[in-house]
Amino acid sequence: MKFRFLTAEEVDCRVSTVSEKGCSLLLYKDARCDQIILDETVGPMNWQRSHTRENANCIVSLWDKEKNQWVSKEDTGTESFTEKEKGLASDSFKRACFNWGIGRELYTAPFIWVKAGDVQLKPKGNGFTTYDRFECTYMRVENGKIVALNIENKTLHRTVYVFGNIMPDDICSVCGKPVKKEIADKSRAANGVVFCSGTCKKAAGGA
Ligand SMILES: [Zn+2]
Repeated sequence: MKFRFLTAEEVDCRVSTVSEKGCSLLLYKDARCDQIILDETVGPMNWQRSHTRENANCIVSLWDKEKNQWVSKEDTGTESFTEKEKGLASDSFKRACFNWGIGRELYTAPFIWVKAGDVQLKPKGNGFTTYDRFECTYMRVENGKIVALNIENKTLHRTVYVFGNIMPDDICSVCGKPVKKEIADKSRAANGVVFCSGTCKKAAGGA
């Protein structure tokens, strides 16, 4: 079974470590993408999830048409500090889906470091923390590996990390900002070129 790669929108960026020099980020799957990808790849009727051990384990089964039987993969979640039960259930579900290959490219992510000037650091205990939010605005995957990434600090409204080559096709023709593929495709279809926003479209003389 072959699943498509995640889109940039389906990737969550979370702060991992923080020091006076900046912070590191880790990439996660968002809460809904496993269900969406299962639905669109095998169809909503052809997969099922079940939980055991009070949600600590999740079994995701796909219907094998040729063998006429369910094929299952299982994994264990770890407790998250928020919403104990829901956290455990969704974590074990995500992990079982990793076993099916969904989002496995995230394991190939480079080390993502955001330097102090690009993140607002706040003192906490003996160290630092940050309340800034980060978003993956571009990700390209080739042969199962992440080859290009763009990460924005949403709180500061700017790109703070770039990895690999962002394809020119997915760059705003006015401001040069990376544009999510879905938006780039829509814009190309409507305008012939890529605009990241209505503002850039206006700046180019569009309606
Ligand atoms: Zn733009």
